[in-house]
Amino acid sequence: KYFPLKRTVGEVLTRTPPKYVRAVDEINFEVKKGETLGLVGESGSGKTTTGRLITRLEDPTEGKILFKEKDISTLTKKELKHIRKEIQIIFQDPLAALNPHMRIGEAVMHPLEIHNIGKDHSERQKLVMEMLERVQLSPASEYYYRYPRDLSGGQRQRVVIARALILKPTFVVADEAVAMLDVSVRSQLLQLMINLKNDFDLTYLFITHDLATTKYICDRIAVMYLGKIIEVGNFEQIYTKPKHPYTQALISAVPEPDPKSKKRRIIPQGEVPSAVNIPTGCRFHPRCPYAKEICKIKEPILKNVENQEVACHLYDSEYEKSAV
Ligand code: SF4
Repeated sequence: KYFPLKRTVGEVLTRTPPKYVRAVDEINFEVKKGETLGLVGESGSGKTTTGRLITRLEDPTEGKILFKEKDISTLTKKELKHIRKEIQIIFQDPLAALNPHMRIGEAVMHPLEIHNIGKDHSERQKLVMEMLERVQLSPASEYYYRYPRDLSGGQRQRVVIARALILKPTFVVADEAVAMLDVSVRSQLLQLMINLKNDFDLTYLFITHDLATTKYICDRIAVMYLGKIIEVGNFEQIYTKPKHPYTQALISAVPEPDPKSKKRRIIPQGEVPSAVNIPTGCRFHPRCPYAKEICKIKEPILKNVENQEVACHLYDSEYEKSAV
């Protein structure tokens, strides 16, 4: 997926041609039915763009997005209407996601009206009331006529979840869905999402920069770095035996409740490079403590290492022979 960069006034005056960044670059992954896949990475890694591409809020420039074995990457807006019922997204900021002039009941009812579900207003109202109860905004009648400004951050996010689930989707992309909430509220929301997943038989793509959050909800984890997926494994593998140096760095940054725990700390050097100037070879090489010559010239590809997928030369025979 390419994005045109905003040009500064100076660039317009000097007629600099438009630049593009590859926000997501040849990634290939699968979300299995019924699982929660965590998509983890720092800001700028391409995880949000991936979520927006899957939900077709962005159009991919190339590649395929298969949903129930059907390629949805080329569907028109009209054709997408049916798919939108099945794939929903929950955003980070509930205040921005909700219309401040719409009452909570109206906001949750809106998707039903768009998709013409329910035979009349009172039937839709009943569905909305039931959904508000399901997200623990109870009694629903107390919340139905309120505005977003009358609710706390956690309550607003429950409304956003209710609005996403009212269409009975099968796949939900949660993009930093609990990132803006206080820690105590965060754990309640995560528990709610787990309960709803079981009740509605959902599949989640859980996008987050915070690896600690994945502990509560994710079955498998895919780690992204500068537009690429660099490691995929189940939760246990990623948490206890991370193979990629970047994943190891992320794990080392997760706060440890046991002060005696001697977790190996590996701090990546420097900042995430700009997506405009992608480093050659392995994109992580300018920050990697294990980088060798081969890492600067050859891009590693995802391959199976002890039942985990990892893109790193450390696990290639060429690495040993390469100059430091
Ligand atoms: Fe580090 Fe090289 Fe592996 Fe990249 S390929 S993560 S630079 S060891």
